[in-house]
Amino acid sequence: MVTGGSSGIGAASVRQLSSAGYEVITGARRLDRLRDVTDSVGATALQLDVTEPESVSAFAATVEERAPQGLSLLVNNAGGALGMDRVEEARDEQWEWMFQSNVLGTLRMTRALLPTLIASGAGHIINIGSIAGFETYPGGAGYTAAKHALRALTRTLRLELLGQPVRVTEVAPGLVETEFSKVRFDGDAERATKVYDGMTPLTADDIADCVVWATTRPPHVNIDEMVVRPLDQAAATLVHRRPVSGE
Ligand code: NAP
Repeated sequence: MVTGGSSGIGAASVRQLSSAGYEVITGARRLDRLRDVTDSVGATALQLDVTEPESVSAFAATVEERAPQGLSLLVNNAGGALGMDRVEEARDEQWEWMFQSNVLGTLRMTRALLPTLIASGAGHIINIGSIAGFETYPGGAGYTAAKHALRALTRTLRLELLGQPVRVTEVAPGLVETEFSKVRFDGDAERATKVYDGMTPLTADDIADCVVWATTRPPHVNIDEMVVRPLDQAAATLVHRRPVSGE
């Protein structure tokens, strides 16, 4: 089960997990986009908004119906960033969106699906965090606060689930070229492209590869954390850029 499978890291995870032989169910708000991903690999697409408790309950009920033996994997991937405002100009609605999707969405999905993950006898929760979960940068307070919170949730879960057959992993990427920056800059494609100017970012498949690798370790092996950056990025704000042609 992968949240946010309609684009980027989620879509790549749906494709790679399907290729690895998993029966994948995925959810997102844009069902048409989701179906474009699932149709080609035989996965199941269901409408899901992780910010809506009723949507999460309905989704979890369907997952339990389709996986009577229990769910083996939950990838909490849905999320993202909105805006780059400094703290003195921060907009409540952007912070609320970031906490709702990255943190509360993960909480709701995990709470709803934990019984079936335990029932499987070998469950696994993979949360897609970020280097923003342990770094900060100017203009990034809302997103870094949300990913710090997600990291705290992940680490707490690992303590609370000790003794249960459920592994808990955080994958924390640096810059990955997806629709992330387009969403962050409210559809401004030019500004989004500039984020990756002159450097080689990670691809969504690079992170999906980590998801599949952590998942396919033997059930007694828990990969706690994977921090994955492009070679061109040493820290959130320290990126090596080459001159772009025409400059
Ligand atoms: P993306 O291409 O924008 O994908 C985000 C996905 O999340 C979409 O499929 C979107 O689907 C889904 N989503 C957003 N809000 C949702 C909601 N309320 N309910 C259900 N699904 C929702 O960006 P991405 O880079 O793949 O991001 C995936 C995750 O990686 C995010 O948690 C992000 O914070 C994290 N991350 C990204 C980067 C990066 O540089 N790209 C780095 C570190 C971590 P719908 O819009 O169809 O609902």
